[in-house]
Amino acid sequence: MRAVVYPVPNRFEIRDVPEPKAGPGQVLVKVKSTTICATDMKVFTGNFPGVTFPHTPGHEWAGQIVETGPGVAGLAEGDRVGVEVHVGCGQCRPCVAGMYNLCENYGNVAAGHAHIGFTVPGGMAEYCTISAKAAHRLPDDLSYDEGAFTDNIGVALHAVERTGLRPGETVAVIGPGAFGLLAVQTARAMGAGRVVLVGTRADRLQRGLDLGADALVDAGAATDPAAAVREAFGGRGADAVVEFAGTESAAVLALQVARRGGRICLAGATGPGRKLSIDLSVIVRGHLDVCGSVANPQWVSLRGLELMKRGLVNVKPLITHDLSLEDFPRAWEMTHNRLDGAIRVMLHP
Ligand SMILES: [Zn+2]
Ligand SMILES: [Zn+2]
Repeated sequence: MRAVVYPVPNRFEIRDVPEPKAGPGQVLVKVKSTTICATDMKVFTGNFPGVTFPHTPGHEWAGQIVETGPGVAGLAEGDRVGVEVHVGCGQCRPCVAGMYNLCENYGNVAAGHAHIGFTVPGGMAEYCTISAKAAHRLPDDLSYDEGAFTDNIGVALHAVERTGLRPGETVAVIGPGAFGLLAVQTARAMGAGRVVLVGTRADRLQRGLDLGADALVDAGAATDPAAAVREAFGGRGADAVVEFAGTESAAVLALQVARRGGRICLAGATGPGRKLSIDLSVIVRGHLDVCGSVANPQWVSLRGLELMKRGLVNVKPLITHDLSLEDFPRAWEMTHNRLDGAIRVMLHP
């Protein structure tokens, strides 16, 4: 089968590799829609802990089951599935509580852990075997392209939930990329009051208005971005803030725009290397609840798919291009250089 392979860091090839087989508890999936995000760059450059080379990436994808391995129940050949990429070992304390994203056996394949597209081969290929635990049946009315957001919607939903958002509360979302735009819609679906989307890219910010944001703040254009965001909330600041930009300035801004007693979830900087420098009184005197969020626990994506099925979250505007697997180099270029308004370039193996 054809697959994208990183033989060593900083190099990719599209080449023939042996087709995988479904082992015990696994399903073999024919990949139908698969895409690239900023995290793939961290994997590519060798800056994602736990990734070994050669490596086949792909962690945002959906497909059709063509074979089930021994011991798989509840899934069958022909099922259309989206993939939730954190598969916990199922035995450690966080896993027993469903917190697959915090598995204490991260990277230990023998213990049953898999991070699909990171510590095990991913879906940037014609076929991929995954744990049956990672496969969520897609609602009939969702396409494979939409199903490729199965993991993403779980990540966004979990981050918004980490703020403890209550109906009617105000929300600032920082970072107008795919996750930020999903967070805007998720907050709206959860009954948020005023939602303000903050970013530095005017074209992406604009999409937020169509997807449920009440107002936009261009932090790049504002002389005092924090004041501009607070102003957008009537000078008070936001009850809840969700940050998906991944930069220090975004994290500082997130803390500055919460109201006193507000809650902030920092979810953008998932890789090491970024520092946070802020006057501590902003947090202490601000009486802020600050939390981090990485990925999503088991089953969160299922609830996300339900929001998509009901039209409360629309991922179609995030799919900006459709190409074939062989077009991976072009998709890579478009995604990482943000060419032609690319948000998600969907590849079809
Ligand atoms: Zn991703
Ligand atoms: Zn575990």
